[in-house]
Amino acid sequence: MNLHEYQAKALFARFGIPVPEGILAESPEAARAAAKALGTEKVVVKAQVHAGGRGKAGGVKLVTGPDAAEEAAKGMLGKRLVTKQTDAKGLPINSVWVEKPSNIARELYVSGLVDRTRERIVFMASAAGGMDIEEVAEHTPEKIKHIYVNPAAGLQPYQARELGFFMDLTKEQTDQFTKLLLGLYRVLTECDASMVEVNPLIVTAEGNLFTLDGKLNFDENALFRQKEIANQRDPAQEDERERAAAKYDLNYVTLEGNIGCMVNGAGLAMATMDIVKLHGGQPANFLDVGGGTTAEKVTEAFKLITASPEVKAIFINIFGGIVKCDLIAEGIITACKQTGLKLPVVARLQGTNMEKGQQLLRDSGLAITPVSDLTEAAQTVVKLAQGK
Ligand code: GDP
Ligand code: MN
Repeated sequence: MNLHEYQAKALFARFGIPVPEGILAESPEAARAAAKALGTEKVVVKAQVHAGGRGKAGGVKLVTGPDAAEEAAKGMLGKRLVTKQTDAKGLPINSVWVEKPSNIARELYVSGLVDRTRERIVFMASAAGGMDIEEVAEHTPEKIKHIYVNPAAGLQPYQARELGFFMDLTKEQTDQFTKLLLGLYRVLTECDASMVEVNPLIVTAEGNLFTLDGKLNFDENALFRQKEIANQRDPAQEDERERAAAKYDLNYVTLEGNIGCMVNGAGLAMATMDIVKLHGGQPANFLDVGGGTTAEKVTEAFKLITASPEVKAIFINIFGGIVKCDLIAEGIITACKQTGLKLPVVARLQGTNMEKGQQLLRDSGLAITPVSDLTEAAQTVVKLAQGK
């Protein structure tokens, strides 16, 4: 789960991390009032969407006066922002963050995340902050320094100082940076964040550090104990189908192809996508209905797949281990009837009660092709999706 920049900044502030002053606005009039209330000659109007790259996409505007703030907000609110981090449809702008402008002398970069291979939190910092850290990482990786936190000891001030020196900060700035980094470490550990990114972290002309942007990502599995963060979820920024899937405890990810896949077990789901691709097809989604699935879950999963207009054929690949194939077949049949399914379906049911399951599918009178060989099943569904 992600937070908006304004929410991240509020959280930063609670952990003693310096953020510029700002006001959230959900209408152009509110943006005008916010600019007035901030009282500065200029303000920055920033589109609140769950994606970076807003600056280059017109989602960050430095304007003079309340009139211009209202105008800038009008140009953003109610529209969708397409950045290089979003898909072609972009994300809806339902609010803007109106902020006091900062007098930027330097733009730095700092982020922290869980390095799963090393089993520790890693912090990365660079003097080459601003908008294009991906480019820096690709072409001049030596400009980014990593430090790894020993989980038993926690982040040590000397480690923060190492990063500070690396970015050529003065002694005073390094002290500020150390406090700031210890704050970010607390956000990561105490709030169960899996990623925190500040780009840019600025040094003002007066020589002080401020977080000008904030990206936070949280571990979904920890949200049960992070109620306050979970309550800040903005469903408008998330994939509708992925949200519906989460409600039924289905692991679902939207992809770009046209073959809807329904599989049990993440490993089998990955193997299924591989074989679909091997035979020239493109999966429309990754869907793992789980090991101990029920007919109800199968029905919901099916509805999800068929709700995607791009899906041209459906591939069901179920291994009946704990779950029984006849139960899966019943779920499929119910779902087909409920959704008035018109798409061709290839079903591969293997394992416990497979004969019974296949029989049920054959007797259903629905356009379902039972295939028991995996290669043959993949080839069949690819052809059907191509309309052959
Ligand atoms: P992102 O493009 O989505 O990462 O959005 P950011 O919040 O990082 O803003 C992009 C860029 O806008 C920053 O790198 C800054 O150069 C600029 N910017 C943001 N806030 C301010 C500000 O208060 N003053 C000035 N002068 N520029 C700003
Ligand atoms: Mn940024």
